[in-house]
Amino acid sequence: MSFTDEIAKRRTFGVIAHPDAGKTTLTEKLLLFGGAIQEAGAVKSNKIKKGATSDFMEIERQRGISVATSVLAFNYKDKKINILDTPGHKDFAEDTFRTLTAVDSVIVVVDVAKGVEEQTEKLVEVCRMRNIPMIVFINKLDREGKDAFDLLDEVEKKLDLKVTPLSFPIGMGYDFKGIYNIWEKNINLFSSDSKKNINDLITISDLSSDELDNLVGNSSADKLRDELELVEEIYPEFNREAYLSGELQPVFFGSALNNFGVRELLDCFVEIAPSPRPKDSDTRTVNPNEDAFSGFVFKIHANMDPKHRNRLAFVKIVSGTFEKNKAYMHVRLGKNLKFSSPNAFFAEKKEIVDISYAGDIVGLPDTGNFKIGDTLTEGEKMQFKGIPSFSPEHFRYINNADPMKSKQLEKGIDQLMDEGVAQLFTLEMNGRKVIGTVGALQYEVIQYRLEHEYGAKCTYENFSAFKACWVRPEDAKNEEFAEFKRVKQKFLARDKSGQLVFLADSEFSIQMTQSKFPTVKLTFVSENV
Ligand code: GDP
Repeated sequence: MSFTDEIAKRRTFGVIAHPDAGKTTLTEKLLLFGGAIQEAGAVKSNKIKKGATSDFMEIERQRGISVATSVLAFNYKDKKINILDTPGHKDFAEDTFRTLTAVDSVIVVVDVAKGVEEQTEKLVEVCRMRNIPMIVFINKLDREGKDAFDLLDEVEKKLDLKVTPLSFPIGMGYDFKGIYNIWEKNINLFSSDSKKNINDLITISDLSSDELDNLVGNSSADKLRDELELVEEIYPEFNREAYLSGELQPVFFGSALNNFGVRELLDCFVEIAPSPRPKDSDTRTVNPNEDAFSGFVFKIHANMDPKHRNRLAFVKIVSGTFEKNKAYMHVRLGKNLKFSSPNAFFAEKKEIVDISYAGDIVGLPDTGNFKIGDTLTEGEKMQFKGIPSFSPEHFRYINNADPMKSKQLEKGIDQLMDEGVAQLFTLEMNGRKVIGTVGALQYEVIQYRLEHEYGAKCTYENFSAFKACWVRPEDAKNEEFAEFKRVKQKFLARDKSGQLVFLADSEFSIQMTQSKFPTVKLTFVSENV
């Protein structure tokens, strides 16, 4: 197979959802279709269980699982599919945001009864901003839920999307009869106990014929006819270009747990979802079919075994091929590195491979060279854009609790920040260190890992801040910026890359500051370039 064919057959995507909507269940069923796993239960849910032993032990367990499920690859039809894991728990949302920089499309799972939930709104907003193609899967149709039209409405309003259903449920919950596949024009009848397969599909060429009534009964048949008429009136016809540019989102209905409606979703996905997309760097747009390799680190995973401090850096290949034992340039460090054991992923296993293609993810064993956002090339000096840092929501001073171990503490903090566990801010005034996190759970993770992996001890102290605002003066030399720095001296810090940050203590203070110093722009997101 030619190099361009290899790239064209890749489909790299993420499943996003609010916890409990059915992301893990759906992922598992998708893998079953690829023949990648033998039985249900193979994909471990990596959500934080409420009330589990103690939080950090739970997190350690999670880390083990999430290495295994970081990338799940399988072949289906003639496509190579890479599913990237995206944690749903809000304390790990940053991880998910970063992973979204490495996907070429997403599937959004929505619970039929709960509708659009908070975490889904946040994640979809990021995808929308980046024009990532999205397919929506409305799950748990075997349960009583909201009316299909109401749900489609809710998806449009809350997620600010333009949808068109490609399948439509026949009844719901107790009365759930099956699904009409608008895309393929056939009916799949539901029975929760049978092991359904593709042969059970019934092709309906004429919806007005008695055939439909015989299958689902008169009243359901009439209702479906009316509903499909309405669908045709209200929703635009599916158009692949509009989907690919993020302007139209097809919707499927089903029940992941019953493996119902999943094949329809997958068959449509492999047909319409994009192959690897071009990506912007600070100097130019890079195309996947370019011969020269390029890629970027979107995730770093620490080794579970503290005796081997190796980490695994996950690289999304943007262009060309990545080969074992070939020297590549680490642009930020300006040095060449070779990798003798790059990992590729297949289902829940990882194995060492000689060659991987644009669209694939490789895991590179690393002893501390990488941080999130780093670019690798064949020598070209460029940096991929778009790995975001969001303002943390929690802030605490971090203190050294064992003066004999200050080197270890420093190294530990440094590496954990490179992994993206939290953000470090150093106060301009006195050099004290403040750790900012998205969720309170991270403080426990950091303390535990510093002790067990680096032999260092830390304590925390309250630091009262509301948000970190990255400071972007329109003119760094004007009087207003100098005055801003003088007045806000106490609240200014540097992030790890040396950018100036204003640690505001309230929403009010941000507003006041912005109106007093209008040329000093404050933003809540920092991109790596
Ligand atoms: P995640 O947190 O999004 O990964 O959700 P899970 O896949 O772990 O599913 C959450 C719960 O919903 C589990 O108890 C699943 O068994 C259940 N579930 C998933 N899909 C369905 C479905 O189609 N119907 C029903 N009734 N339950 C489902």
